[in-house]
Amino acid sequence: MISFNEAPFIGTELTYIKQAVDNKKICGDGEFTYKCNQWFETKFNIQKVLLTTSCTHALEMCAILANINAGDEIIAPSFTFVSTVNAFVLRGARVKFVDIRPDTMNIDENLIEEAITTKTKAIVVVHYAGVSCEMDTIMEIAKKYNILIVEDAAQGVMSKYKGRYLGAIGDIGAFSFHETKNFSMGEGGALLINKNEYIERAEIIREKGTDRSKFFRGQIDKYSWCDIGSSYLPSDINSAYLWAQLEVASDINNKRIQLWNMYYTGLIELSQNVDIELPFLPEYCEHNGHMFYIKCANLETRCQLIKYLYKHGIHAVFHYVPLHSSIAGLKYGEFINKDRFTTRESERLLRLPLYYSLETAQVEYIIKTIYKFYSE
Ligand SMILES: *Cc1c(COP(=O)(O)O)cnc(C)c1O
Repeated sequence: MISFNEAPFIGTELTYIKQAVDNKKICGDGEFTYKCNQWFETKFNIQKVLLTTSCTHALEMCAILANINAGDEIIAPSFTFVSTVNAFVLRGARVKFVDIRPDTMNIDENLIEEAITTKTKAIVVVHYAGVSCEMDTIMEIAKKYNILIVEDAAQGVMSKYKGRYLGAIGDIGAFSFHETKNFSMGEGGALLINKNEYIERAEIIREKGTDRSKFFRGQIDKYSWCDIGSSYLPSDINSAYLWAQLEVASDINNKRIQLWNMYYTGLIELSQNVDIELPFLPEYCEHNGHMFYIKCANLETRCQLIKYLYKHGIHAVFHYVPLHSSIAGLKYGEFINKDRFTTRESERLLRLPLYYSLETAQVEYIIKTIYKFYSE
């Protein structure tokens, strides 16, 4: 069976984990946590990066930093993972769901403005499959209305928009290092801060609401309770696992793009003859090979193809059930205007296996099996 996902493993992870253990410092903010933070800050040109226990938690920190209170509103796509909006709902916000663009599956930047009210505190954008949203337009809207931009770049590590790394464009953002993502530490993520005035408060929120980070740097002689917060700091053991991958980040990225390109060139002829659609890459976007999906004619064909692939030893899966039609989505938000594409496009989408340890022969087999399905 070709599994849908396998956790990335380079081989040096265990050496670094042992080093973390030998350091006798396995709690957060040890050697490897700092190394990872700095690597991202330098390479991606982000003012401050703080590893967290998950992307979900990094988004929760964003909601606290944004001072979200009961009655506030946020704008987000409905085609996303629950954490994108849950983090803000936890603080009392209501969600205004905006339709997606059918080409990139990202929030339609031209529909955002009509969802803005006097209560709108933040626009949370999601770079689906590591392909960027139209950030220039979105940043202009944010400036015009003085609204915060949060980038959920969980899938976008290493991707670029007009030469800038995703996560470095909005005011704050989040990465994920879950085992299904391009780089992993098991469970983990990072908070990305591009606004100076958030840095000090973010450190406090991440350390249970205390100024312990300052204490460890020797800037104060005792630490105390300063603000609300929680335990958002990952263990240095997990950070050591991530560090092994960051050292060879471009190799991992190249391998994923190579597999992505194999799928694309292999399936292009089929897409000209039968009703399937391949992913679209806007010219301003450099992607990271996070995901390869195809869109079938409709829900029925997608289900048949998933079954067919499974029967032939390939685990392919669908993706998000739109949040606005889920139990919690109905309770905590509403769709603004017409759902033209969110439901329809999400029902057609099918994700194929794509991960670091996937072999080119396996991709060839998957492509061949898809051709066979359409020829039968
Ligand atoms: C994976 C993912 C998350 C959640 O990441 P965790 O690290 O598992 O909390 C959030 N948003 C998006 C878009 C994701 O793909």
